[in-house]
Amino acid sequence: MAIINVHDKSFETYLSEETIQQRVKELADAINEDYSGHRPLFIAILNGSFMFAADLFKYLTIEADICFIKLASYKGMKSSGKVVTSIGLEDDLFDKEVIILEDIVDTGKTLHNFLPKLLHQQPRSLKIAALLHKPEATEYPLTLDYVGFQIPNKFVVGYGLDYDGLGRNLKEIYQLV
Ligand code: 5GP
Repeated sequence: MAIINVHDKSFETYLSEETIQQRVKELADAINEDYSGHRPLFIAILNGSFMFAADLFKYLTIEADICFIKLASYKGMKSSGKVVTSIGLEDDLFDKEVIILEDIVDTGKTLHNFLPKLLHQQPRSLKIAALLHKPEATEYPLTLDYVGFQIPNKFVVGYGLDYDGLGRNLKEIYQLV
């Protein structure tokens, strides 16, 4: 098992590149099936989900649109709890079939606070695809429609996820030692 250092902390390999790719393809296959003949709009939440969104999108065979928005609620290793929209949502969601792409659902606060803003625009449907979910940490009610991996309540980096800005480029996901 590889140990890496990011800033002052040590992390060990938790999910290999192959495991992640395999699972992302499975999620895309499920979406291809569920949305066959439809054209959903994916809303990827930056920064963390950029790699997940890019890989998932490549495995799609259906017609699909994608846009990117930015919500900030995390500094360092502890959620600050505040949700700030810094890049707005330009697409009109009325009557659209929307799928949110999130890197990780921790307390669930980010999405729980953000969903009403989306629902206000009256999409035809609204589903959530999260690569990672920490069920033990989740405090806010949320229905996750597609989940890559249920993981323990430990801080992770890699595959788009950072620790104070670093680690996003890693192809694997690492867990705090
Ligand atoms: P929530 O609002 O669900 O508590 O937090 C969601 C956001 O917190 C995620 O989109 C992600 O940016 C950040 N986050 C939560 N857990 C982790 C983690 O283990 N590692 C990293 N790098 N970010 C996390």
